[in-house]
Amino acid sequence: MKALRRFTVRAHLPERLAALERLSVNLRWSWDAPTQELFAAIDPELWTQAHGDPVALLGLVSPSRLDELAEDQSFRDRVNQVAADLDDYLSRPMWYQQRGADGEVLPTGIAYFSMEFGVAEVLPNYSGGLGILAGDHLKSASDLGLPLIAVGLYYRSGYFRQSLTADGWQHENYPSLDPQGLPLRLLTDAEGRPVLVPLSLPGAGELNARVWIAQVGRIPLLLLDSDTPETEHDLRGVTDRLYGGDQDHRIRQEILAGIGGIRAIRAFTAIEGLPEPQVFHMNEGHAGFLGLERIRELVTDGGLDFDTALAVVRSSTVFTTHTPVPAGIDRFPVDMVTHYFGTASGGDDADAADPAEESRLLPGLPLDRILAFGAEDDPTKFNMAHMGLRLAQRANGVSLLHGQVSRGMFNELWQGFDEDEVPIGSITNGVHAPTWAAPQWVELGRELLGSDDLGSLSEPDTWQRLQQVDPGHLWWIRSQLRALLIDDVRARLRRSWLERGASEAELGWIAGAFDPDVLTIGFARRVPTYKRLTLMLRDPERLEQLLLDDARPVQLIVAGKSHPADDGGKALIQQVVRFADRHEVRHRIAFLPDYDMSMARLLYWGCDVWLNNPLRPLEACGTSGMKSALNGGLNLSIRDGWWDEWYDGENGWEIPTADGLADETRRDDLEAAALYGLLANSVTPKFYDRDEHGVPTRWVEMVRHTLQVLGPKVLASRMVRDYTEKYYAPAARSLHRTIEALDGVPFGAARDLADYRRRAEQAWPGIRITDVDSYGLPDTPLLGSELTLTATVDLAGMGAHEVAVEAVVGRVDATDGLVEPSTVQMEHVGTADGGRELFSTTTPLPVAGPVGYTVRVLPHHPLLAADDELGLVTLA
Ligand SMILES: *Cc1c(COP(=O)(O)O)cnc(C)c1O
Repeated sequence: MKALRRFTVRAHLPERLAALERLSVNLRWSWDAPTQELFAAIDPELWTQAHGDPVALLGLVSPSRLDELAEDQSFRDRVNQVAADLDDYLSRPMWYQQRGADGEVLPTGIAYFSMEFGVAEVLPNYSGGLGILAGDHLKSASDLGLPLIAVGLYYRSGYFRQSLTADGWQHENYPSLDPQGLPLRLLTDAEGRPVLVPLSLPGAGELNARVWIAQVGRIPLLLLDSDTPETEHDLRGVTDRLYGGDQDHRIRQEILAGIGGIRAIRAFTAIEGLPEPQVFHMNEGHAGFLGLERIRELVTDGGLDFDTALAVVRSSTVFTTHTPVPAGIDRFPVDMVTHYFGTASGGDDADAADPAEESRLLPGLPLDRILAFGAEDDPTKFNMAHMGLRLAQRANGVSLLHGQVSRGMFNELWQGFDEDEVPIGSITNGVHAPTWAAPQWVELGRELLGSDDLGSLSEPDTWQRLQQVDPGHLWWIRSQLRALLIDDVRARLRRSWLERGASEAELGWIAGAFDPDVLTIGFARRVPTYKRLTLMLRDPERLEQLLLDDARPVQLIVAGKSHPADDGGKALIQQVVRFADRHEVRHRIAFLPDYDMSMARLLYWGCDVWLNNPLRPLEACGTSGMKSALNGGLNLSIRDGWWDEWYDGENGWEIPTADGLADETRRDDLEAAALYGLLANSVTPKFYDRDEHGVPTRWVEMVRHTLQVLGPKVLASRMVRDYTEKYYAPAARSLHRTIEALDGVPFGAARDLADYRRRAEQAWPGIRITDVDSYGLPDTPLLGSELTLTATVDLAGMGAHEVAVEAVVGRVDATDGLVEPSTVQMEHVGTADGGRELFSTTTPLPVAGPVGYTVRVLPHHPLLAADDELGLVTLA
């Protein structure tokens, strides 16, 4: 018989062990070994049965065992000590407080929006890298003391669990989650009633979401849940699952996350007495609607006009893009956006809506202004990334290479500017060391530092101490971790075969499958085409030779989920499974179903080599290789994402890319051949070349070098510090200046900026550079000869000090294109007849060879982050 509904009843803890409750619901336990050990000590067997989940453990443990522990003085002392450590962690000043004490203007609050958060496997609120990154962002923000509030959705069934059918096809199963069984509390008001976040969706009905709060160390993570009695039936399923539905489902989720998310923050900060966030960070464009709700607040509650409100919102919004391909961007039909944002006259009918009218969903905002944020080439599409860029004064990609690719991809929003001038920067992703480093490495770190405080991990000097460690010891750690992995692989392989219909009697071979002494390669990731799961199968015989080599064998562990709607991806998985099922090789290669954080952790710990072969440059950053490197794994990868930036010739291997080739088949052939070649000629010899103690010294030196050079770089703490210094703090400063009163008028600065922007947008098409004179150059110019340029400009009503006029000088190519030119500000030197303005500068010629110049006019206002921000430019 199946239950209609399930829920979890928590045990009643004896008074003297009451702190266990607090320890179980703050997810800090997931990266704090002493807390995990404490829970394991309650009952080691139940701890395994509960998959290392403290809330589940407390639900399973018997009252008599708890009473027994309550009588145990040493256990009580331990509980109190761990609880005191948590309290200290939650309250003591951290890096952020230090910076603030040094007088820096930092935001008093930061809101971080993401559609997924991979914090711990007990909260399956993620599908892949984007979610894990968001989880690592929160944990590092907690460690550094950032006043960050995170916002996402509570999915009733999280992401799917993957299993395989007998013939290797992916099967999805959506276990339903029970909030009472998770480390969550409900946001309630003073009377203890659940707070409801209202969202009135034109044409769909009333949604009233509850807010679950997960506590991630110091960081509250607010998760909106549409499945409440107060929500109309048809809308209760909005948060049913992650990436589960069609576009209509998706836009409802994004409206709830963005608009409902802001409303949830307002309720939360009011109840908790916390400062309002000043900076809003969109982790990908999905939560972009948050900017619209903030404009609405400022318009309807604050009495500002739309443009002034937009100036305030832009100044304090940060947008991070994560995809290097246009196909990866969320785009909705314009009609769908019109339908949901609605107008009074349109009713529920998108066609009848008058776009100049106010939106029904966001009163005070004209529908056409909303639609303009998402405008792109295709007039039928509403582009969420474009909206992100238009609502945020600051934007970034997630690795150096991805920043560059993004500047190209979004160049159309800054027409008239060269690609490298597009104001999108980059911050390379990072990973949370306490979550992803094996305990063995953490222990070694403590010994080397002589302290439990691993706060100095971002200092390169700290990692130099590895120099003192004996190669044999490093190798011993690596070998231990590999052995742990092999145990886990065998257990998973057995479970998978049983699920696929095998009987125990057929599975005797698994006990001897995989070998703790064989070079172990990992390849685990989601299965979109660009990651090329099956590149290794390009030449199956060659792969088989490598696996079965007598002297230098390799073993391969493959894992990854395909999007449920992607049959192409499932077919790739099936190819790998069919290859790996064969008797000849099944002890050396396996596809393990249900890649998640718990499997990932052991893979990163134990794999000697981490393989990554995306189609360059389609991997925006990639983080699994960082987690491997943090454990002394060596990357063998196409130079894409982070690896393009930090590969140094000795910390792993570069698979040469054939990314210039248009012929994809040939490209795959070449890159696969290079992969096999590297494995046979470089990777395996180093691994199997041993000294008299059985230690592969050349290999171990690469491990040591990897830890030393990549250790301090791949950290999420480095990433969060970068965001704080380059984005959050500047955004807070922009906000302060933008909301200042001018002559007693509230928001005077923002009004001034909005007025400036309106005038600039009107004037720009009329601005003309009518004349450029050059003089001063000798007949035969030499490098360094001085060039004087004077431009006559018709400013179409703009003032001479409201614009920047620049001379652009540099080498020219065959078609007179300026190549990496330098720009020189021209000074306003007077007014010519007819009111035209004169600008001039004298500059030395910067390069030899064919040189050219031009002049351009840009907007200039002290509240713009840069002169190119508005995307307006006039060229001579
Ligand atoms: C780190 C991680 C990812 C992301 O890895 P990529 O290198 O970006 O593919 C995906 N899933 C899990 C479970 C992870 O831990």
